[in-house]
Amino acid sequence: DSVLFANRVEKTYPNGTRALDEVRLIIQRGDFVSLLGPSGCGKSTLLKMFAGLESPSHGHLRWLGADAPGKSGLKIAMVFQEATLMPWASVAANVRLPLDLAGVPKAESESRVQQALNQVGLGRFGNCYPRELSGGMQMRASIARALVTEPDVLLMDEPFGALDEFTRNKLDADLRSLWAAKAGQLSVIFVTHSIYEAVYLSSRVVMMAARPGRIVADLPIPEPQRDE
Ligand code: ADP
Ligand code: ADP
Repeated sequence: DSVLFANRVEKTYPNGTRALDEVRLIIQRGDFVSLLGPSGCGKSTLLKMFAGLESPSHGHLRWLGADAPGKSGLKIAMVFQEATLMPWASVAANVRLPLDLAGVPKAESESRVQQALNQVGLGRFGNCYPRELSGGMQMRASIARALVTEPDVLLMDEPFGALDEFTRNKLDADLRSLWAAKAGQLSVIFVTHSIYEAVYLSSRVVMMAARPGRIVADLPIPEPQRDE
């Protein structure tokens, strides 16, 4: 079974905006798919649907064949453009939040938090507060918070869009290594405006157009070209 499947999906918001039209998209385990397109082409809407935060007006979505994410057993994590960290809690406490919510005992969660922080290069910053970190480091912390649950699917909505280009390139490279280290287990959908970023990061680039939002191309990125 495909991990995620959208078939003939349409979304019309209550105000009449046709955000998506006849969208068909299949995500396999281990795919790194970039969604590329202009503002308003429905990238966020499609991502929110895969997260279970919006439902289609027509058509259907499947998660490992199930008709709701909760029935599939898939762990899905989402990262937004803003780091959305709780300012009153330490970086470690922020990253631990999903484990606390899942009732993971503290003895286990502390080592998992440390491991997630190490993965994003923040191993020594667990005791800092978000305001003490740079924008790029805050984004790293929110990626750690998403990874700490060991998700099957990582949905990223323009995660580095607010960062300067230098920091963004660094985070792109680190994200690609993180994904490669998951050896075909982690599926990523990455929303971006940047063709450069999409081609650099992904195993597939899905291009969308607006009014109505739709998929206009779905291109594999050949593996050899992605290796330095
Ligand atoms: P993108 O992420 O590609 O910029 P979005 O999915 O955010 O596109 O939006 C697609 C279209 O749907 C846009 O025209 C946007 O204005 C509209 N839209 C998004 N969310 C809502 C909403 N909650 N209510 C009404 N229109 C919306
Ligand atoms: P990033 O690219 O992750 O945003 P920066 O370029 O902002 O990182 O910072 C470069 C390095 O400077 C960081 O990896 C970190 O080691 C160090 N650094 C940045 N902010 C702080 C801070 N508040 N306290 C200690 N070290 C910091």
